[in-house]
Amino acid sequence: MAIYKAPVEDTLFLLNDVFHIERFANLPGFADSSPDVVEAILGAAGKFCEDILTPLNRVGDRQGCRRNEDGSVTTPEGFKQAYQLVVDGGWIGISVSPEFGGLGLPIALTQTVNEFMASANMAFAMYPGLSQGAIAALLTHGTAEQKSLYVPKLVTGEWTGTMNLTEAQCGTDLGLIRTRAVRQPDGSYKITGTKMFISAGEHDLAANIVHLVLARIEGAPDGTRGLSLFVVPKVIPNSDGSLGDRNAVSCGSIEEKMGIHGNATCVMNYDGATGWLMAEENHGLQAMFVMMNEARLGVGVQGLALSEVAYQNAAQYAKDRLQGRALTGAKFSEKPADPIIVHPDVRRILMTIRAFNEAARALIMWTAIKGDVARRSDDAKERDIADDHMGLLTPIIKGALTDLGFANAVMAQQVFGGHGYIQEWGMEQFVRDARIPMIYEGANGIQALDLVGRKLGRNGGRAVMAFFGEVQGYVKEQASDAALKPLVEPLGKALGHLQQATMWFMQNAIAKPDNAGAGATDYMHLFGLVALGYMWCQIAAAARRKLAADSSGRMNSKLVTARFFMERMLPETATYLVRIQSGAGSVMELPAEAF
Ligand SMILES: Cc1cc2nc3c(=O)[nH]c(=O)nc-3n(C[C@H](O)[C@H](O)[C@H](O)COP(=O)(O)OP(=O)(O)OC[C@H]3O[C@@H](n4cnc5c(N)ncnc54)[C@H](O)[C@@H]3O)c2cc1C
Repeated sequence: MAIYKAPVEDTLFLLNDVFHIERFANLPGFADSSPDVVEAILGAAGKFCEDILTPLNRVGDRQGCRRNEDGSVTTPEGFKQAYQLVVDGGWIGISVSPEFGGLGLPIALTQTVNEFMASANMAFAMYPGLSQGAIAALLTHGTAEQKSLYVPKLVTGEWTGTMNLTEAQCGTDLGLIRTRAVRQPDGSYKITGTKMFISAGEHDLAANIVHLVLARIEGAPDGTRGLSLFVVPKVIPNSDGSLGDRNAVSCGSIEEKMGIHGNATCVMNYDGATGWLMAEENHGLQAMFVMMNEARLGVGVQGLALSEVAYQNAAQYAKDRLQGRALTGAKFSEKPADPIIVHPDVRRILMTIRAFNEAARALIMWTAIKGDVARRSDDAKERDIADDHMGLLTPIIKGALTDLGFANAVMAQQVFGGHGYIQEWGMEQFVRDARIPMIYEGANGIQALDLVGRKLGRNGGRAVMAFFGEVQGYVKEQASDAALKPLVEPLGKALGHLQQATMWFMQNAIAKPDNAGAGATDYMHLFGLVALGYMWCQIAAAARRKLAADSSGRMNSKLVTARFFMERMLPETATYLVRIQSGAGSVMELPAEAF
């Protein structure tokens, strides 16, 4: 069976030694996050994930979800009990304001708990994860009544949330949505249409499901400008929160799919279901974007989570599996063969994955802290800067981290040879599960276009210029530090590649948008590498400060891994730049019939 150990120590190192979370004590909720409180929370979350969710991962994969004749959906054995423990532990709302029943603690803690849960059992983690997105959207765009009726129940986990965008004819292009909303005399709406691929659309974990549904009010304009967002509960709550009548929304079927079998992916039928408008009429997409952005970061976390658990299993296997001898002579001559960890090619794989994992965790944490500043700071300028960062980094975290998360799951599977391909070790499940984060919440190609087409130019390029300024400032500042030079110099070079690519788009993509489209994914990965490189410099600087006092060897491991990243992963920025600068010519030349 697959193993998992939550990386609590590494996370605490990031929070305390790299990002110095105590510096943010002026933000509401941060003062309550003293190191011992944080350690206790992460320790408990880690234990829950290791002991309860990890063993259920295989069960969920093998059993999947079952739709019953009456349209109800049964989740795999043990999911219900585990979900109750999530409710009892109060895990869903740890970063939600106490006004709505949460603990108000930093978002970085929520993202960490979400990482642990997704590593242990991604299909399960999606149920509470979607509720968090619904909470964010309701808090930003719901009416006072909607907030007080729905948010506290979502925070406790008594009810769960979903997001309903996709229809058969419309995935990326939401302007094609056909689901209709008809205004009723009492101010509510009747919602009619069919949504598909709705994660957690129906299940037996909670008493009610709060669907956030994009639909078009009769007479609204075509395209995305005519979309409105509705809250459509499975069971209509009374004003005191008790459950009233069943609404006309039901699960028509569940998808048979490649992975995340423990999560019910539903076709949802809305047959004149009662819904209530959230946000302004025809401004539904902007409101749904709150949930989508939240979900996109959550999906980036899934990329890291699967890479981490796949790595842990591969590292353990590489220490146990005996095959061949080290190139430099037997290392364990008393054994019939050396463990495969002696082989440079196996180590190349393991180092590549761990160099991603540690920096990706830092990047997510850095961005989560910005998320807190954006929401909680009382300084408007500080909020704007943090918001810029979130907007810029969200497609990178979603797109680059999930592409690499999948690639890493495949590489970790390779460490097992043929044993990775069979079910027994759980590696093929990680590969299957890691595939979907690249697709949902906007396929990764769309994330890249969002980055290049929207985020770069927004507010005159304010966000990207701030990012360049910060990294450039750091490189200059550290240039004289001889110990950090081998890390900072390559970062400076990679940043140069990113700046050249950005300039190239400015000069070549405005008149020829295909140049932007053809280079967008390369740009997203180039940007991702620079951001990860920046994280490695900061991790290494913190590790050096702790090196003398560290007898465990962990800090030295970080320094070696940082060097590996700079020597063997960051140089890929040069290739991305060359690809981007080759433009759209050969990509677009062949006529469609030639394919
Ligand atoms: C397991 C699972 C769970 C899901 N959960 C949910 C959910 O909870 N709620 C929900 O609403 N949806 C959900 N989805 C739907 C998911 O978000 C969509 O599948 C995804 O957004 C892509 O839409 P599509 O499948 O229609 O692909 P399409 O939009 O048809 O895209 C196909 C390909 O073309 C590319 N493409 C499309 N348009 C462009 C363009 N303009 N430029 C460049 N490339 C383009 C895309 O990148 C993609 O690679 C889920 C899907 C799955 C499989």
